[in-house]
Amino acid sequence: MKLVVRVKLLPTPVQAAALEATLHACNQAATWAAGVAFEENARRPLELRKHTYAEIRERWRLGAQAAQHAIKKTCDAYTTLKANLRNGRYGRPGSRRHTRASGKPVVFRPQAAQPYDDRMLSWQHQARTVSIWTTAGRLKNVAFTGQAEQLEVLAAHRRGESDLVCQGGKWFLIATCDIDEATANTHPVGFVGVDLGIVNIAVTSDGARHCGRRVRRKREQDRDLRSKLQKKQTKSAKRRAKKYAGREARRAKDINHKISKRIVAEAERTGRGIALETLTGIRERARLRKPQRTTLHSWPFAQLGSFIAYKAKRAGVPVVNVDPAYTSQECSQCHHTARGNRPAQAVFSCRVCGFVDHADHNASHNIRQRGWMVWVCGAQSTAPELTLIA
Ligand SMILES: [Zn+2]
Repeated sequence: MKLVVRVKLLPTPVQAAALEATLHACNQAATWAAGVAFEENARRPLELRKHTYAEIRERWRLGAQAAQHAIKKTCDAYTTLKANLRNGRYGRPGSRRHTRASGKPVVFRPQAAQPYDDRMLSWQHQARTVSIWTTAGRLKNVAFTGQAEQLEVLAAHRRGESDLVCQGGKWFLIATCDIDEATANTHPVGFVGVDLGIVNIAVTSDGARHCGRRVRRKREQDRDLRSKLQKKQTKSAKRRAKKYAGREARRAKDINHKISKRIVAEAERTGRGIALETLTGIRERARLRKPQRTTLHSWPFAQLGSFIAYKAKRAGVPVVNVDPAYTSQECSQCHHTARGNRPAQAVFSCRVCGFVDHADHNASHNIRQRGWMVWVCGAQSTAPELTLIA
């Protein structure tokens, strides 16, 4: 299974200047090579190399590897463009957009990503530094940072090339990791049902409730602060609002990592699969008063779902997606379904059999049962395939 891990570089000002000069040189060289490729109609690496390699090395002082990568990057860009032209991304042949896209050479932004292979970049995971090639020579001890779990994955499974990118003045390395998947558990003894919601982010059929009140209150505080700042309209207020938004997103991501980790570990330990509600439409389905709606809109449920899916895949735990319609109104004991079964947000109380439970917990049991039905009915791979998590 391929995974993408993004780490942030913490270069000193001198190191940052060297990285910037390098990225600019690589992209200038690639843009020039793209012009040559266009004129000479040389779009394969081997052919384009004949026309450009020597000059790239001399004019932009790129090392052998960097020059090769710049040429390869150019060829890849043409391949992508060709595919996009063919599948109609630029309209029909002869249309203005189509002509404009196909009638001139590819141009790279000065800060476009540049691939690095193991000869140009080495990782010191213990020290959390990289040694990286630049046009100003090799930079040693460039510090990097990232989330603990991602750094573990990186240290154990990184393979092949990484991309150097600069976004908003910050430097990142995007590394590809190739993770062995555990042998899939093809005979789960049951399923853990997971109900996703607003009051509790995730409630499992085992009764584990993930992140209720405290997280929500913190998010509400952050949001209030942010909307106050946004009203101010000054430059510094806007900057601070952006900072708070970033902090909120990072905190949510961290929580999603923790929740998904716990759910998958529990399923793996007990030999069960995971039943998740199909995530599309969770926002449409929720009918709520306004303040809650904002909370719902701002929680990244899709991210949580994808974290669960990839961690489960890694652990060999099967995941099934179930139709969540009426899971909150259905009695998990006698299956009587009615809106009246739910007298309050948090309370489930069956009108027929008298079963009483926490509403989310009851819903998670329904999801668990539906998951099992989906599994035994043979639709065993309903979870979407995914490969990329940053
Ligand atoms: Zn009932």
